[in-house]
Amino acid sequence: MTNTARIIAIANQKGGVGKTTTSVNLATAMAACGRRVLLVDFDPQGNASTGFGVDLDARRDKNSYRLLTGEVDASEACYKTDVSGLDILPAIVDLSAAEIELADVDAREFRLQTALQMVARHYDYIFIDCPPSLGLLTINALCAADCVIVPLQCEFYALEGLSQLMRTIEMVQQGLNQNLIVQGIVLTMFDSRNKLSEMVANDVRAHFRNLVYHTVIPRNVRISEAPSFGQPVLIYDLKCSGSQAYVALAAELLSQEKEAA
Ligand code: ADP
Ligand code: MG
Repeated sequence: MTNTARIIAIANQKGGVGKTTTSVNLATAMAACGRRVLLVDFDPQGNASTGFGVDLDARRDKNSYRLLTGEVDASEACYKTDVSGLDILPAIVDLSAAEIELADVDAREFRLQTALQMVARHYDYIFIDCPPSLGLLTINALCAADCVIVPLQCEFYALEGLSQLMRTIEMVQQGLNQNLIVQGIVLTMFDSRNKLSEMVANDVRAHFRNLVYHTVIPRNVRISEAPSFGQPVLIYDLKCSGSQAYVALAAELLSQEKEAA
């Protein structure tokens, strides 16, 4: 392993496809495997921060918005979670203003990359939970990242919008971050009782082949309950099918890295 973190953006401009759930639980599973992990909440909605029970008062001054504006350093804005080895850099709603405030700033696409450099050697992995848009925040995440994981919900419109996401990734690869790769697509909210889930999964695999993880995240009520307890589902109920799927996804990610090494 190199002595600087591998940075992974979790991106899809659609809302509600499982970006935050995947960020929180993949980060937790990687920490459980003994890796030092930072989760950057980069969505103004702050769902990942809430999902770890970081309350609003605690994150008001030190968060990903103030990181982008340069008011705080990354080292000040990382909070320990209850999961050993896992820190979070939380978000507040002000982050939505960054899209506009940074519009005229030099090197605006690289604010996050620059800011994370200070802490990158303290971690093995940094996950960035992206907002549901392809604006400047997601571009910042893609410029900071070594790779991107795309969660895809197993529903009829799953593929819609994916080509736009892929075009954005290509644009970043061509101009801003030539090292960026698509690490994988993960199918989420798979419902085995629903024929449509199966059809969508087959479709996506036919199209994207090896890019699609073998692990499929099932629709599981424990996953949706966990955030209201301020816990990743792995902590809330390790045995449930949702937790086990995220453990399997982490194992797949680790074996990809081994192959690449
Ligand atoms: P995004 O970050 O892409 O907007 P979320 O991860 O917040 O998506 O997921 C959207 C909603 O679906 C949340 O309420 C979440 O708890 C729920 N959810 C996500 N994945 C699953 C799953 N596998 N099974 C059941 N509910 C899920
Ligand atoms: Mg989210």
